[in-house]
Amino acid sequence: MFLSGKTAIVTGSTSGIGLAIARGLAGEGASVVVNGFADAEAIEAARGELATASGAQALYDAADMTKPEQIAAMVERTVAATGSVDIVVNNAGIQHVAPIADFPVERYDAIIAIIMSSAWHLSRAALPHMRKAGWGRMISTGSAHSLVASPNKSAYVMAKHGLVGLTKTLALEAATDGVTVNMVSPGYVWTPLVENQIPDTMKARGLTREQVMNDVLLAAQPTKRFVTPEEVAALALFLCREEARSITGANLSVDGGWTAA
Ligand code: NAD
Repeated sequence: MFLSGKTAIVTGSTSGIGLAIARGLAGEGASVVVNGFADAEAIEAARGELATASGAQALYDAADMTKPEQIAAMVERTVAATGSVDIVVNNAGIQHVAPIADFPVERYDAIIAIIMSSAWHLSRAALPHMRKAGWGRMISTGSAHSLVASPNKSAYVMAKHGLVGLTKTLALEAATDGVTVNMVSPGYVWTPLVENQIPDTMKARGLTREQVMNDVLLAAQPTKRFVTPEEVAALALFLCREEARSITGANLSVDGGWTAA
């Protein structure tokens, strides 16, 4: 277990890709901080499963990624409980699909805060601890939308492109500290985030559910199948290995060929 003795914070890990990444990290012995919103029973089930897998600590932190002070406090609570923060995964995310003229301002603000600004705040709080340890891994869950756009997703595409800038900048700032900073950028992964945007896309484009699945979502993905959360997690886990120490500032696609087209 190559991550024994290390601690990871995975934002938005009560569900989907974040939970798969948390499972991958715990499976290699890391203590994991689960974060995100879900009912108490689901959180406790995830926490118990991760602790059993790692043989280490599995903690839950309810920090809201729209609140900078809660993000900084999560880092301090984690260090107090486990002694370090070695890996952070900026993964929490939400989506809203609408043409810009109809896009609710509060949804724009929430998307920018949860996806983009939270990564800046978490990195700011965690990097000093990694520098002190001389080792660290920062990973953001990007998206094909960090590289290309789709209509009606202005806030999301902005936020994901913003993460590319943060990743490149911090890779340079931390280059001699033993800390790497990268993104894993999935195409469409079958999670609640994708399922929930189907009704809005149906409305925005006047399509049926089947048309959205096949003609909008999978149309972009040459492999014609959804990426799995485990495929994304496997790449994130690889980035935590020693063999990956020269990979930094990179935005790595797991998108079934979407951005090759
Ligand atoms: P999901 O809805 O299953 O999970 C999102 C997680 O974020 C949940 O744990 C949720 O509780 C958490 N979250 C939401 N708001 C939060 C807040 N204010 N504070 C803390 N946590 C909050 O979605 P997912 O598909 O697993 O998405 C995870 C990441 O992957 C997101 O950044 C998303 O943009 C990205 N992504 C998803 C896909 C896809 O097709 N599903 C594709 C590319 C990128």
